Amino acid sequence: MFLAHSAAATGYGLTAEETSAANAWLLPWLARGGAARWVVGNLVVALLYAGLGAIVGRFFGAYGLFPAPIWLPAGLACVAAMVGGPGLLPGIFLGSCLVNGWFFGTGPWLTLAISAGNTLGPWAGMVLTRAMRPATGLFTRFVGVLGFILGGVLLHAAVTAAVGTLALSLAGPMSAAQAYAVFSAWWLCDSGGTFFFAPALLLWLGAERRAAPTDRVPGLVDHLVLAGTVATVAALFAVPGAGLLVRPDAVFLLTVPLSWITLRISLRAAYTLLTAICITATVGTVMGEGPFQGHGVANPLQSVGLMTVLFAMDALTLIALTSEGREARARLAETRGTLARSMARTETLAREALTDPLTGAGNRRHFDHAGGAALYRARQRGEPFSMILFDLDHFKALNDRSGHEAGDAALRGVVRTCRAVLREAPLLFRMGGEEFAVLLPGVGLAEAAAVAERLRLAFRDMPWDDGETWLSASFGVAEAGLADRSLDALMRRTDAAVYAAKERGRNRVELAAPRQ
Ligand code: GH3
Ligand code: MG
Ligand code: MG
Repeated sequence: MFLAHSAAATGYGLTAEETSAANAWLLPWLARGGAARWVVGNLVVALLYAGLGAIVGRFFGAYGLFPAPIWLPAGLACVAAMVGGPGLLPGIFLGSCLVNGWFFGTGPWLTLAISAGNTLGPWAGMVLTRAMRPATGLFTRFVGVLGFILGGVLLHAAVTAAVGTLALSLAGPMSAAQAYAVFSAWWLCDSGGTFFFAPALLLWLGAERRAAPTDRVPGLVDHLVLAGTVATVAALFAVPGAGLLVRPDAVFLLTVPLSWITLRISLRAAYTLLTAICITATVGTVMGEGPFQGHGVANPLQSVGLMTVLFAMDALTLIALTSEGREARARLAETRGTLARSMARTETLAREALTDPLTGAGNRRHFDHAGGAALYRARQRGEPFSMILFDLDHFKALNDRSGHEAGDAALRGVVRTCRAVLREAPLLFRMGGEEFAVLLPGVGLAEAAAVAERLRLAFRDMPWDDGETWLSASFGVAEAGLADRSLDALMRRTDAAVYAAKERGRNRVELAAPRQ
C-alpha cells in the first residue's frame, strides 16, 4: 500500500536525474509482487538486517559498548517498512531473530519477543510517517520531515524499546529505575540508527524524491567543499592525536559545509556525507580518537550522537524549507502562466468579437463602440469629426457574373486598398454586405471629401480578377454638427448622401449638407 503511494508520489514532478537508477527497477519490481519476489525480498531484508546487526554488535561489543549506541539495523527496518510496506515485515522479524538468537545467543522466547518489537516498531512508524507524508515526497515539506522524525524515528524506536524492555523485565527481575535506563538507552540506540541511516538509504534507493533545492548543476567549488569536509572529518577522527588539536565544540562548525552541500548539491549528497561523518566519528571516538576525547566532554560517544542528530536535523529542515519555497515559486509561475494565457485568450476573443472575419475590418459592433467614443472625444476637444460611408456599385451583378468567392475576394481587396490609402490603422468598418464606413476624427468635411475621392480613384485602379471588371463605389461624406446628437444621427445623414450618389449615377462622392 505504501509502496503504491510512494511509487505514485515519486512520479510527481521528478526529473530523470532525480529518479535514481535503483528506483527504476526496484520499486516496480517489488510492486509487481508475486510469491517468489516476496520470498526473495524478505530474505534480502533478513540477511541485511542480521549482517548489519552482527557487524555493529561485534564492533561495539569489542569495546564493551553493547547494546550498540547506534543500531543501524533499525534504520534498515524503517526503510524496509516504508518501501515494502507490511509485505517486508517478515524479513525484519527473521533478521532480528537471526541476529539476536543465533549471533548474540539470546534465549528463544526472549529472541521472539524482542524481534516482535523490532517488527512492530517499524510498522507503527511507517503508518504514522505515511499519514503525514506530503504527496510531493517525504523530504519536500517540513510536515514530511516531521512525519519521518515522529513516526520513522521516535515512535518506531519507542515501540521497539518498550517491547524489548518489557521482554527483558519478564525474563528477569528489574527495578523501575533499571527498566527506565534500559528503555531510554534502547530508544536512543534505535533512534540514532534510524535518524541518519534511513534517509540515506531511502534517497539512494530512489524511494524518496531527492529534492534538489536548485536546478543548477553542482560545480567544482561544491565538490571541493564536499571533499574538504570528508578530509577534515577523516583528519579529526581517524588521524591519531589530530582531534585533540581542535576544541570539541568546534566540530559543530561542520554544519556550515554540510548546509552548503545540502543546498548546493542535494539532500542525498548531504546524507551520504552525514553517514560518512557518523561512521568515522563513531568508530574514531570508540577507538579513543577525535576532538570529543578532549577535556570537558563527559561522554564522547553521546557527543557524537548529538552531533549526528544536529547535522541530520539541519539538513532535513533546510531541504524541506527550500523545497517548500521552490514549490511555492513553481506554483506562482504556473499561476502566472495560466493567467497570461487566459488574458491572451480573452484578448483574442474580444478582438474577434469586434472584427469582421472576411475582411479583417472592424464590424458593426466595433463601429458603434469605437465611433461613439471617438465622436465624444472630438466633441470634448472641440475638434471636427467626419464620416465616410460607401456602398459598392452593382456588386450583385459582379457576384452573379464571377461567383460568390470572387465577390469575397473583391471585398477583401477593398479593405486592403482602403488601408493602403488611409494608412496608420484607420477606423475602417464593414457595416454589412458591401457597405463600409470610415471615421475621421479631427478631420473636417472638405478634407474628408478629399479622402473619399482618393478612395474612389484607388478602387478604380484596384487589380481585379478578370482584368476587365471595373469596381466602383458610391460615397457619402458628412461632418458631425452640433445637431448630430449621436453617431446614428450622423450616419443617417451620411447614408442619405450615399443614396444621393447612387441616384446621381454611382461611382461618385456626395457631401451631406453641413449642419449646425
Ligand atoms: P448597387 O448597390 O449599386 O445599387 O447594386 P448592388 O448590386 O451592390 O446592390 P445590393 O446592395 O442590392 O446588393 C448587394 C449584394 O452584395 C448582394 C449580395 O449578393 C452581395 N453580398 C453581400 N454580402 C456579401 C458577401 O459577404 N460576399 C459576397 N461575395 N457578396 C456579398
Ligand atoms: Mg451595392
Ligand atoms: Mg448594399
